Amino acid sequence: MVNLENFLACDRDLDPDTAQRYLQAEAIALDTETMGLVPQRDRLCLVQLCDASGFVSAIRIQPGQLEAPQLKRVLENSNSVKVIHFARFDVAALRYHLGIDTAPIFCTKIASKLARTYTSSHGLKGLVQDLEGVELDKSAQSSDWGNAANLSEQQLSYAANDVRYLLGLREKLIGMLDREGRLELAQQAFGCVSVMVSLDLLHYKNIFEHS
Ligand code: MN
Repeated sequence: MVNLENFLACDRDLDPDTAQRYLQAEAIALDTETMGLVPQRDRLCLVQLCDASGFVSAIRIQPGQLEAPQLKRVLENSNSVKVIHFARFDVAALRYHLGIDTAPIFCTKIASKLARTYTSSHGLKGLVQDLEGVELDKSAQSSDWGNAANLSEQQLSYAANDVRYLLGLREKLIGMLDREGRLELAQQAFGCVSVMVSLDLLHYKNIFEHS
C-alpha cells in the first residue's frame, strides 16, 4: 500500500471509510487507466478519485476482477457529480469491466467544446494549461498500467495529477458555459453520454448520421 500525503493507493476496492468520505462529496473527480482503448480487449487497471480537499485514491483493479462494491456505491451515488475528462471512455470501461453505471456526470471535454469555441485544443493538457496555467506532464499516459502492484512513483503521480485539476476545471467551465448561455445544453449533453456508451459497447457507429 502506497500512502503519500493526501494520496492513497489500494487494491480491488475502496475501504468503507474512504467510500463514505466520497459519498458525502458534492462532486468527485474521476479517471481510469487501462491497457488500451478497446474495453472488450483491454482490461481496466486503475481507477482514480479526488475530492474537493485534493484527497486522491487510486484503486488497483486485478485481472479478472468483476466488481468493486464500495466504488460502485460512490460512482452511482445520485447526489454527487462525477467529473471526468472524456467521460465516454471511462464510463464505458467502468460499465464493461465492473458493471458500474457512473452517474450523474460532468464531462470537462464536452464542456470545453461547448464553451471554448475559440480553440480546437480540448485535451486535458491544453485545458489545464489554458484555465489553470499549469503544465501537465502526460509522459506516462501511454505506459504499462498492467503491472499494478509495481507501478512506478512517476506513474502514480501522473495518475493522481489526472484527477487533481478536474474539479477546478469544472468550476471555471460552469462559469464560461453560464456566461455563453450553454449550461443547460451542456447538462443535456452529459445526459447523452450513457446512451453513447451503450451504442459504443454494441459497436454501433454514427447512427445519428444520414448514411
Ligand atoms: Mn488518466
